[in-house]
Amino acid sequence: MAWNVRVDPTLCQASGMCAGAVPEVFVLDGAYSRVLVDGIEPDERVLDAADICPAQAITVYDGETVIGPRPD
Ligand code: SF4
Repeated sequence: MAWNVRVDPTLCQASGMCAGAVPEVFVLDGAYSRVLVDGIEPDERVLDAADICPAQAITVYDGETVIGPRPD
């Protein structure tokens, strides 16, 4: 199943780490990152980006289920 990715613009600190790690999914657009595509193929790098986001602003969904960020 395709994954969906969301960035909460109220949390994002515009560090750019996600866009640097997965530029085909995230783009730094001024004051916050946004997601370029809706519905992506499963991609471990996107989960990694959610894990390392310093603001915990990225959420990854597999259907209705939140799969990222992963618990420590
Ligand atoms: S890694 Fe997190 S804080 Fe940094 S730009 Fe991406 S969403 Fe924003």
